Amino acid sequence: MAPTSLSPATVEVLDRIEHLFQLSNDRLIDITRQFVEDYNLGLGEYNKAMAMIPTFVTGVPDGSEKGTFLALDLGGTNLRVCEVTLHGDKTFTLRQQKYKVSEELKTGEATRLFDYLADSVDAFLTEMGHEVTDVEALHLGLTFSFPVEQSALDKGVLLTWTKGFAARNAIGKDVVKLLQDAFDRKHLHVRCCALVNDTVGALLSRAYTSGGCFLGAIFGTGTNGAYVEDISKIKKLGDSTSLLGMSKMVVNTEWGAFNNSRSVLPSTPFDNKLDRESINPRFQAYEKFISGMYLGEITRNLLLNLVDASPPILFNGNSTPILNSHYGFDTAYMSDVENASNLDEVQKVIVERVGFKPEDVSLDDAKIVKWACHLVAARAAKLSGCAVASVLIQTGLAKLGGGSSSGDERFSVGVDGSLIQHYPNFEDGLRASLRVLVGSDVESRVDIGLAKDGSGVGAALCALQAVKQEKTLERALQDTSLG
Ligand code: ADP
Ligand code: MG
Repeated sequence: MAPTSLSPATVEVLDRIEHLFQLSNDRLIDITRQFVEDYNLGLGEYNKAMAMIPTFVTGVPDGSEKGTFLALDLGGTNLRVCEVTLHGDKTFTLRQQKYKVSEELKTGEATRLFDYLADSVDAFLTEMGHEVTDVEALHLGLTFSFPVEQSALDKGVLLTWTKGFAARNAIGKDVVKLLQDAFDRKHLHVRCCALVNDTVGALLSRAYTSGGCFLGAIFGTGTNGAYVEDISKIKKLGDSTSLLGMSKMVVNTEWGAFNNSRSVLPSTPFDNKLDRESINPRFQAYEKFISGMYLGEITRNLLLNLVDASPPILFNGNSTPILNSHYGFDTAYMSDVENASNLDEVQKVIVERVGFKPEDVSLDDAKIVKWACHLVAARAAKLSGCAVASVLIQTGLAKLGGGSSSGDERFSVGVDGSLIQHYPNFEDGLRASLRVLVGSDVESRVDIGLAKDGSGVGAALCALQAVKQEKTLERALQDTSLG
């Protein structure tokens, strides 16, 4: 409800906007049904809207894995380099360093970007005091959180950039090779042996620390999910002999691209403006409703609409350079606004974050800003529930609309991202929508847990898997040559 202490004319405008952001239970069900349909289209054929990328990861860890590996994480706000030691008892230690990726690198020539990745690994190794003369190459897992069509654990071509990246001459190329070439140019004794998406990392690391997991999900700068699927349902793989004897494979859904046609997603004029002005109009539709990169911008569009109303509804018709700039209103500010315990505090947040003078922000303004943040974030949380529910349904763990489901099996979801970690009540909203979609019995058995350091630990687990597979292959080859 719009705050009712405002003038009736204002309340009427706000109510109209609020109506645009409502999601009925029927709409949530339609969205979830469409998700499941799109999953199956994507599993059947390549080049579908929902990419449903086979990852060649054919099992999840159980916590007994051991070893030390490097991990490189590109695709979030920062570039991270880590060294991960898996102790084999569900625990690990991790040393890491963050590096900034400039806009220039994100949108310049791809070789420059990959040279920078190699430089960062070099700097990290120096800082950690690694011996450059080590005889055996260090194994590195690359967490690369963009849509990649993978053909092996250590091979995958970039399909498209997302989240503000647009480096030239990378699309269609094998990103492992781009990175390895950069290492080789620098004569770094590091070998990239595994390629993993951050969602897959979240799934694997949660499985490692909790002994099992069916879904890894990211709610950060972007949103995406990866889950464990029956290989028999990944029809587009055909009868690949290399997978003989395997029954499961992790699939990276790339669900951020769900419903690019927006036939079921509830677009408002504020969403449309965001999309038009984005660097990838008409793509990543779902992500633009859900994730940290965009929620602040939707809210900014909404707030400016109220500033520009005649007569003005917000800030007396005034704005600030922050509020005027594209992506100037960060999703983290929304968190601050919603975390504020009273309107005086909201006022303070607006002054500090948006750059108004205290006298230019009334308590009514504070009330409206808080209402706007809640509207945008609550819709995102509910929509996030559709993705989680759709995977429960796709994997046969639940039925759409709920209904009787027996047993006391727990369903573990590994999550990562600032939004789910820090946004107030985000998980509650997601769970409310799960109750509508799969019933409260199933919802109460869903354990949502942080995949701590998921991208680092996930990459390490994948690198371990790759080394194991290579050794098995080597042994098989030796056996044949001896025999
Ligand atoms: P990434 O997804 O890039 O690995 P994060 O998970 O930290 O990194 O997500 C960063 C995104 O989360 C940014 O878009 C930022 O606006 C948003 N964000 C950062 N802090 C918060 C917060 N406290 N509450 C909500 N969103 C936040
Ligand atoms: Mg991340």
